[in-house]
Amino acid sequence: MPERATARADAPAGFIAAIAWPGLLLSSSAILAVGFALGHPAIYFNLSYAWILLWLLLLERRLPYRADWQRADGQLKADLGHTLLNKGLVQFTIIQLMSLEFFANRGSGAVGALPLAAQVMLGLVATEFGLYWAHRLSHEWPLLWRFHAVHHSVRRLWIVNTGRFHFIDSNISVLASVPFLLVTGISMDAIIWVSAITAYIGILTHCNVAMRGGWLNYVFNTPNMHRWHHSTNLAEGNTNYGQNLLLWDQLFGTYFLKPESAPGVIGIRERMPKRLLAQLGMPFVWKRYQAAPADAGSDM
Ligand SMILES: [Zn+2]
Ligand SMILES: [Zn+2]
Repeated sequence: MPERATARADAPAGFIAAIAWPGLLLSSSAILAVGFALGHPAIYFNLSYAWILLWLLLLERRLPYRADWQRADGQLKADLGHTLLNKGLVQFTIIQLMSLEFFANRGSGAVGALPLAAQVMLGLVATEFGLYWAHRLSHEWPLLWRFHAVHHSVRRLWIVNTGRFHFIDSNISVLASVPFLLVTGISMDAIIWVSAITAYIGILTHCNVAMRGGWLNYVFNTPNMHRWHHSTNLAEGNTNYGQNLLLWDQLFGTYFLKPESAPGVIGIRERMPKRLLAQLGMPFVWKRYQAAPADAGSDM
């Protein structure tokens, strides 16, 4: 039976499937809002992230999008290693930017006087412009694809491989998007909201949970939309580059959705070593590695 036929359609029925995505995004945001009201946004952000993570772990067991994606793929250590490494290095990059006082006097201009919700929307749209082009170039420019291929090399999507990016890939995304965020002139609170919403939507995109996107699929990068992006069929995969919003995909013609269908095989056509260290070094020996016989060097 072809794999496509075993995939549950991208529009599952049921109450939980209908409310899971907006419910988790809104409830996490509500926890962060309490944190702001109490003057402890950082602590409450961590709580909100733990909240969404625990729910997704539970839902991945109880309401999986694909049962075959629940099976181990031998990539757990590599997934966690990439996540820890790029989280640390992205934070290092952000601290460097802050030390250059890019974040000083945030929100002191006219934009900073706008209602917080308007600032957050502006920040999301502007940041997404940088994220969109960094991501699109990572697919269309072979040199960048070598790094981004690490993210796409998985054969299943679940929350643990959300943070699986080559650290150079994730730093390119930060450097390409943070300037667009800062140039808006939004306040520091709005920047925290944009970062938090990016984290919430980010962890939702990879979850192996049957969620109904509905009209949200036209606006946000829901799991249903991101699964198309991981398709080995490039007509489906080189689409939906948005990280949070699909606005720029809509405008630049890379939006893709087949509402009652689902992507079949996900992954890449090239070879990828199995171990973390080999995956980190692979972009630098890409041509030699790809040209090697399939049974040689697969675990270099
Ligand atoms: Zn991609
Ligand atoms: Zn992905």
